[in-house]
Amino acid sequence: MKHKLPLKIKSMQVLLWRYFALFTVLIIAVVSIVCYGVLTSSATIQARDRVISVGSGLTYFANGATSDFEGVISNEMNRYAITEGMDAFIVGLNGAAFISTTELPDDWSGIFEELKSTVDGWTADRAVVYSAQSNLNYVSCIVFNGRQCYLLVRYPMTVVLNSVRSMQLYIVIIALVAILISFVISYMLAKRISRPISELSQTAKRMAKGDYSVQFESAEFEEIAQLSESLNYAKDEIKKSDDFQKELLSNVSHDLRTPLTMIKAYASMVMEISGNDPQKRNKHLQVIIDESDRLTGLVNDILNASKVSAGLGELNKKVFNLTEFIYGIMNKFGYLQETAGYKFYTDIDSNLYTLADEEKIYQVIYNLVSNAVNYTGEDKCVYVSLKDMPESRRIRFAVRDTGKGIPEEERKHIWDRYYRSKDAHARPVKGTGLGLNIVKIILQSHAFDFGVKPAEGGGSVFYVDFPEVSSTPDGE
Ligand code: ADP
Repeated sequence: MKHKLPLKIKSMQVLLWRYFALFTVLIIAVVSIVCYGVLTSSATIQARDRVISVGSGLTYFANGATSDFEGVISNEMNRYAITEGMDAFIVGLNGAAFISTTELPDDWSGIFEELKSTVDGWTADRAVVYSAQSNLNYVSCIVFNGRQCYLLVRYPMTVVLNSVRSMQLYIVIIALVAILISFVISYMLAKRISRPISELSQTAKRMAKGDYSVQFESAEFEEIAQLSESLNYAKDEIKKSDDFQKELLSNVSHDLRTPLTMIKAYASMVMEISGNDPQKRNKHLQVIIDESDRLTGLVNDILNASKVSAGLGELNKKVFNLTEFIYGIMNKFGYLQETAGYKFYTDIDSNLYTLADEEKIYQVIYNLVSNAVNYTGEDKCVYVSLKDMPESRRIRFAVRDTGKGIPEEERKHIWDRYYRSKDAHARPVKGTGLGLNIVKIILQSHAFDFGVKPAEGGGSVFYVDFPEVSSTPDGE
């Protein structure tokens, strides 16, 4: 079944690109606007400083001078006119020019009227800066050749403004190019960040189709690397479970069919042949019983497997007599002593109590003893002990077999789900690799210590440390 993504969901790459691009455009726009503004105002301020410096310099020269200095003053005024691009005039109060660096402009009367109204009457040593008709003007009240005059310096701002305009144009062009570059870089960055995620998604799709050979790879970013690691772990677990299901299905169908065929065959034999011969009948009935036991074991494993995958649920802890509990379980194994020649040796301290989930601990002890039975040596001996360890307030349960033991490198794997040793044991054991995993989950949920050690003289010792508690309050 294909899942459609909701329409609201957007592509991460597009979003990232959009945000990166927006961010850079904003930065570039702000920087350009600031540059644009600063350029205009600093050009104006500079022009003003210039006109004041030239104007005050000329005022210093001309103020109080006599006509003898006319030549010098005129020279100085011309020098500024050439180097600074300014015009300078010394005019009387009626508007007649005494010295000027250029011919009087056509609209001189208008210019002079404006000058007069700005200065507001001749006042000794007064100077004013004002702008009019794209000119920056400096006017000072001076006495030249014994007469009250005005010194006017005119700075045509068009020159300054033109160079500012061309610089502003450069700024706009640079900003546009920068925005274009930022779009490309943002696109590449967004692609680079989102690419590993879409790769993971492609791999996940392949895995969903049942290809477990895929490998989630991506080490460029730490978070993605962690995600791939988790996905690889999940994939391995799914693969294990899938393999297990397939194996279980083929095993189960094969294993169920064999005992069922046997049961049917021997039941028919009892009915038709051995019914009246008690010895033969019992032998045949025993086969039926053995095969039924095998069936029960198989069904139990399948049930346990589903229980483990569904989680083990809440613990139902209570205080109980561990000594009697272990005896109870060992009695259940008693039939093996009679029917299959197993020998159980027990060394159990009396009257020990613990606090645990009795039903689940039953499964733990049962699985450990079953394994010892399954994997013990030719002598078919199993040793079970329950020992009080008062100094640590613990009770150690241990079960030892005489089998070939578990190689060190395998010891940490045997607790994994579906793990089964490849080694041949004394007797071929039909297991599922789930028993010890169930033991581990139960004991970990109790926070009990447990483990396996090699036994002296071969075989293994599996142990569990139970907390020791005093007997129930009513002294049961
Ligand atoms: P199963 O017994 O169904 O295969 P378990 O989870 O109980 O699964 O055990 C996992 C593996 O650990 C077994 O396949 C076996 O190789 C190894 N094992 C368990 N108990 C013993 C033991 N007492 N001696 C030797 N090997 C053992």
